[in-house]
Amino acid sequence: MSRLPVTPPSAALIGGEWVPTPYSLSVEAPATGEPLAEIARCEAEHVEDAVMAARQAFDGQLGDWNRWSARQRGEWLYTFAAAIDADAETLSALECADTGKPMSQAKGDIAVCARYFRFYAGAADKLHGETIPFENGYSVMTLREPFGVCAQIIPWNYPSQIFGRCVAAALAAGNTVVLKPAEDACLSVLHLARIATQCGLPPGVLNVIPGLGKEAGAALAAHPFINHLSFTGSPATGTLVTQSAAANHVPVTMELGGKSPQVVFADADLDAALAAVVRGIIQNAGQTCSAGSRLLVESSCYDEVLSRLTQRFSELRCDAGENDPDCGALINARQRAKLEDRLAEAQADGIRVAASGSLADSAPSGGHFVVPQVLVDIPEGHYVACEELFGPVLAVQRFEDEADAVRLANSTDFGLCAGIWTNDGGRQLRLAKRIRSGQVFINNYGAAGGIELPFGGVGRSGHGREKGFEGLKSYTQLKTVAIRHD
Ligand code: NAD
Repeated sequence: MSRLPVTPPSAALIGGEWVPTPYSLSVEAPATGEPLAEIARCEAEHVEDAVMAARQAFDGQLGDWNRWSARQRGEWLYTFAAAIDADAETLSALECADTGKPMSQAKGDIAVCARYFRFYAGAADKLHGETIPFENGYSVMTLREPFGVCAQIIPWNYPSQIFGRCVAAALAAGNTVVLKPAEDACLSVLHLARIATQCGLPPGVLNVIPGLGKEAGAALAAHPFINHLSFTGSPATGTLVTQSAAANHVPVTMELGGKSPQVVFADADLDAALAAVVRGIIQNAGQTCSAGSRLLVESSCYDEVLSRLTQRFSELRCDAGENDPDCGALINARQRAKLEDRLAEAQADGIRVAASGSLADSAPSGGHFVVPQVLVDIPEGHYVACEELFGPVLAVQRFEDEADAVRLANSTDFGLCAGIWTNDGGRQLRLAKRIRSGQVFINNYGAAGGIELPFGGVGRSGHGREKGFEGLKSYTQLKTVAIRHD
């Protein structure tokens, strides 16, 4: 068994207690394939207990959360953020070992998690309704109220960041939470939950139920007493979860996949563009919903861009996260096999690997590594340019002019992010408006992950917005109060 700085709880957090489950799940280290920890395997009865605890905490039958003012909730979030920072070394080590990502990225993720709690701490008491002018003799106002019990189902690629994104906003708004982390990576989340209880969060306000998607996840999504559901993961699972929630008329936020284009014009700062293109596809070994997995290049600079990319990719190294390489391991053997199959099929279709990285000599032999690679000669509509491969694989296509760039950028069912690289101001604005996407980044990609900026997709990338103040509002519902006074 690989060594961890702490043993995360092998239990579920329900109603303020760590509850063991009859069965457990083994979690392995992606970089070595070795067992890392045992986690609880919650089933429908645990989900039932967690939802009831969250309901009771919201209704004031368990603890005093329902009497906390917005300011008090904000103060707790500040305390928790400071506790995350104080334990950042342990949390980063857990995240790095559990996800296989480079240590510097794991450290960045923990810092971002704390920032979410700090941002929503400050925002908690700045959320308010409005007064609305109406007929004489009336006063009308809107109240922004929490939903109640928020169900949150999160993936394995950014466990601590997505925990921060969802939990901080939901609690700042006064909800209670039942969170189902991913079975493949949730050790940082379990440790974060332990820290939250140590920071004095009342029982039942945050419940964490590790387990399998088709058991704990499905039971949570279908539970009639949840009042809101936030899901981050694959479009296919998102459809199932949406159907379950719809049966109980539960509102949902869906953060699904992407096949995001980076569009590079010949007049762009190519040094800046290419640095961002490489970062945008190797970060977290390409297992990022917002990965810039398509590169669209203007014909007149195509050869130059490809030659520079070839040079850069040939220098990229894969290794265990602890060695802080350019690129870590994929999450598990299943994801690696799926990606390798798709790449073999693509080569059989005549698609060429123009450049690739390599495995560092120090890389452990049992790790789930796939080296970063650049694919070219891609026929239009081929799946490598339309399907989310979820690996460090960049699909490169060329375009002739602005209209062609827009057509190619909009040629998938997804719409999460787009990067546009050009120094022509008019073109920047035209493309920002014409590209179908939840986010458009001009002469940058990802805006340094800004937690303050609303984030979400269109089309198969999902709907609803998290992050920023919009994310806080999305964990509330409006109530209209109309008073007739004369
Ligand atoms: P997934 O959608 O199956 O899992 C995401 C979460 O949903 C996990 O917590 C999982 O346990 C849960 N889940 C699975 N089946 C469920 C069900 N029937 N009911 C309720 N919950 C369920 O994703 P995955 O298998 O972990 O990854 C597969 C693909 O998902 C990837 O290749 C990628 O395309 C996509 N993905 C996207 C993101 C993103 O941030 N957009 C993150 C991770 C994975």
